Amino acid sequence: MSQTIEREAEHCARNYRPLPVVLTRGEGVFVWDDAGKKYLDMMSAYSAVSHGHAHPRLVELVRRQVGELNIVSRAFHTDKLGPFLERACELTGQDKALPMNTGAEAVETALKAARKWAYTVKGVPEDAAEIITCTGNFHGRTIAIVAMSDEPQYRAGFGPFPPGFRMVEYGNIDALESAIGEHTAALLIEPIQGEGGIVLPPKGYLEAALSLCRERNVLLIADEIQTGLGRTGKLLACEHEGVKPDGLILGKALGGGILPVSMFLSRKDVMDVFTPGDHGSTFGGNPLAAAVGLEALNILVDERLAERSAEMGAYLLAALGKIDSPMIREVRGAGLFVGIDIDPAHGTAREVCEALLARGLLSKETHETVVRLAPPLTISRAEIDWAIEQISDVIAELDAIRLAS
Ligand SMILES: *Cc1c(COP(=O)(O)O)cnc(C)c1O
Repeated sequence: MSQTIEREAEHCARNYRPLPVVLTRGEGVFVWDDAGKKYLDMMSAYSAVSHGHAHPRLVELVRRQVGELNIVSRAFHTDKLGPFLERACELTGQDKALPMNTGAEAVETALKAARKWAYTVKGVPEDAAEIITCTGNFHGRTIAIVAMSDEPQYRAGFGPFPPGFRMVEYGNIDALESAIGEHTAALLIEPIQGEGGIVLPPKGYLEAALSLCRERNVLLIADEIQTGLGRTGKLLACEHEGVKPDGLILGKALGGGILPVSMFLSRKDVMDVFTPGDHGSTFGGNPLAAAVGLEALNILVDERLAERSAEMGAYLLAALGKIDSPMIREVRGAGLFVGIDIDPAHGTAREVCEALLARGLLSKETHETVVRLAPPLTISRAEIDWAIEQISDVIAELDAIRLAS
């Protein structure tokens, strides 16, 4: 083990198990380690780096803004917040936005909005509001958020948990219909599950969920922290089914791969439940983050990143689908959001990721059995071709080793 890794291990909490590489520089789709070795980044920080590392427009903007004004808190107005939120609303079709920093904070904001909307608009009795979530969900790591999870490791040792959450099977519309009651405030849902293993619900599910929610006066809140902003080949993954959610959560790529920037967006009547003092964040909506967020959105449009994601993702998916190996159970995804499902009888996703790392390709397993491929949306066809070659070689090698033993 390198000294750098040992030093980190000595003092850093063991809440992650990083692959054994020390990164020191990033540019576009590539990162370099401390020995100067170059890697193609097909993980892009769980989709936070959709714009690529150190996008020149963002670097230039940060250089300028950082010398102007950075943090003032929301106790004052700034010239940067309005234009950023206006653009975000315009692109997503929402009326208003509440800026935060990390994804989990924006999810918490959505939960608060849904509950208060239930009490003040829908007329749910005090403290009785329910929020429905789905099996296999991932919405972050706060206590309330892990209370909504069915992943034992996310919860173990962290109770007691706040009540008011109810879980239904992801993709099962009948289960959703019977779970909705008079006290249901919202359905919180990922249009495609990311940490759950790149799981796509059956076609038509989201649309059906929306009409159910409309019928029963329940908010549909889409967590698009990972799927949003072009990742799945549309600006929002909800657009694949023509669904406009009542509430929308963005994060990750909203910070352009530079800063943590997140927000909760919604219809006016939902957002208007917040009054001064209800909710806040010292850093949320700061001028540096707002400037970066606005530029990140503009780059997304100018460089047609969603369209590129659709095109390149379809190409990647088709090529991976042609790899013939007992290790691969399924290849699935949308846009540049692709999972290779590894059959546990024939191997682990971790060993695939480690072999890819040795060849200079960064990816990360999720849930032991899925290799996640989510490169910056700026990736070129030649770079994808190189990645496909590495992946098929690695799978063939691992197959050969297994056959020999
Ligand atoms: C990453 C993620 C979050 C949490 O975001 P953080 O910035 O890590 O707090 C929430 N929801 C989804 C769908 C995510 O992928």
